[in-house]
Amino acid sequence: MLELLKGASEAERERLLALEATKLVDSPATEDFDRITRLAAALFNVPTALISLVTHDRQWFKSRVGMEAAETERGAAFCDHTIRSPDVLVVEDAAKDRRFKFNRLVCNQPGIRFYAGAPLITLSGHALGSLCIIDTKPRQLSDGEAAQLKDLAALVMAQIERTVSVGRVHEVTHMPNRAQLRSDLHDLALTADSGARVLALVDIMSGSQVQAALLALGLSALERSVRVIGGRLASLVGSDTTVYHVSETRFAFILNAGQQDEASVKLESLMAQMHEPFKFAGVAFTLEARCGALMFDPAADRGHDLLRMATSALVQAATESAMLRWYASEMDTPHRRAYALVQMLPESLESGEFRLVYQPKLDVTKNRVSGVEALLRWSHPVMGSISPAEFVPAIEKTAAIHQLTEWVLNAALAQNADWQRQGVFITVAVNVSAKNLEAPGFADKVREACDRHHVDPRWLHIECTENSVLTGSRTTETLQSIGKLGVQISLDDFGVGYSNIACLNRLPVSLLKLDRSLIAPIATDFRAWTLAQSLIDFGHCLGYRMLAEGVENAETYKMLVEAGCDAIQGYFVSKPIEASELLPFLRTQMPARLLLS
Ligand code: C2E
Ligand code: MG
Ligand code: MG
Repeated sequence: MLELLKGASEAERERLLALEATKLVDSPATEDFDRITRLAAALFNVPTALISLVTHDRQWFKSRVGMEAAETERGAAFCDHTIRSPDVLVVEDAAKDRRFKFNRLVCNQPGIRFYAGAPLITLSGHALGSLCIIDTKPRQLSDGEAAQLKDLAALVMAQIERTVSVGRVHEVTHMPNRAQLRSDLHDLALTADSGARVLALVDIMSGSQVQAALLALGLSALERSVRVIGGRLASLVGSDTTVYHVSETRFAFILNAGQQDEASVKLESLMAQMHEPFKFAGVAFTLEARCGALMFDPAADRGHDLLRMATSALVQAATESAMLRWYASEMDTPHRRAYALVQMLPESLESGEFRLVYQPKLDVTKNRVSGVEALLRWSHPVMGSISPAEFVPAIEKTAAIHQLTEWVLNAALAQNADWQRQGVFITVAVNVSAKNLEAPGFADKVREACDRHHVDPRWLHIECTENSVLTGSRTTETLQSIGKLGVQISLDDFGVGYSNIACLNRLPVSLLKLDRSLIAPIATDFRAWTLAQSLIDFGHCLGYRMLAEGVENAETYKMLVEAGCDAIQGYFVSKPIEASELLPFLRTQMPARLLLS
């Protein structure tokens, strides 16, 4: 974009950036805009009405009535004149107007003679394009009609502002949200003069304060208090600085930094004021607000996840019960991040940041998908998406894994019940950790969950790694109790752990899942291929069903089918998909895959 703008004047550059920010050009047609052009055509009794947006080289119609082309080159656009005119531009007879008489849209199709366009001007004063009416006969426009056209243009602008702001404001406070902050940081990187800035992230309440307020006041009063406190923070920060509401209780803003010391003084004084008691709903509160801050250079640090870095500093402030902490790269060490993940888990589970995706398992012997594996996904509002490969090992080390596994178990069974109601009967596999199997009563939890969702336990699989099942007698008992319920047990990541076959023999395991690292190289590495074949034969001899994980291409798939592998899982069959995508997948995509077997 900036390349294209090189020759443009400063004002035109700004106008084009404003247009780009709307993301409207080349967006699909919508009824909200089409309604206005239809109304304009009917009101003025003209064959053509357009909402035209003028880009650097063309005019593109966001909505059009009576015009076949979706766009024209800018050189032919009447609207290019309108955006430079302060008022409605009226051309009563284009064939007699020296500006337009040789215009191809006048001389050829559609043969424009009459044109009236009202500029579409943003609140910041940039003309993005026009709302225009066109006729193939000359005519006039009265002052009253010109005023009506302007009114309609104002309606278009209101619709544009609404479209742009949707998804850019926080629903509770109506303050700009995280998406807006990201977009503003992006723009800052492109347009800022050099010089450091500070990104400050303030959490207005501790997790326990949120819990207490929620219990004492209820959700809507809690939201009102967040509105009040957010407003208070914004007034302390000052009206020339935008405050963004980035997650439930967190607010961010950008300061023009001098030195870190100066910024520290400013932020500390601000936080001290946030800590002063204040009254809400007649009750006095003292907030445990914290701030994580980060110095950055907008251009040089482009592409860095600044908000995540500020979050690291904020977590550090909370850990040390400090009002303010500056980001330091050591904060990003994995164990600090792991600590932060564990801290965030309960709140994140509550606020719906977790969901399950489902990866189909192809049963080679039956030539159909007979089950899926439930895999967790965590979309954190500030830290973005966090991989289970990162957060599961961190959470597994703590008691929080019980809450997490229970959540997964219930969500997976609820989903399976829903599929069963739609006539689809497949198994759903849930991954469990060593700590779950060691906990007394885990088998009861599994049974209760199946009862609660009215799912027969035979539609549930439990996946555990071989290392996790070799931890002791409690684990063996749990697995036996689960097995007795009718739940099938699979051994995950088989072939990379201790592979203590003598111990495995005592467990009610029915399926071994050959780890991806053993499967991935078989098409190119003969030793790996020999090993995979031997493991499949070996498993079969001991009475296990064998599944290959991480099958990514047709060649690997065919080799495994030939080697007698019972089931296949991997991107070649399907990546993990959303629950809603499963039924369409089973209906439409499966046959193509099956042809290969
Ligand atoms: P896993 O149980 O062995 O799951 C298989 C992982 O391999 C998944 O990664 C899956 O997306 C990925 N995968 C599947 N097919 C392919 C392929 O063809 N190519 C490649 N490159 N990857 C493939 P994901 O979802 O990131 O999960 C990673 C691990 O996190 C899982 O390994 C499992 O150990 C753990 N995990 C995931 N969800 C849960 C859960 O709900 N509870 C527990 N305790 N652990 C979970
Ligand atoms: Mg698994
Ligand atoms: Mg695995």
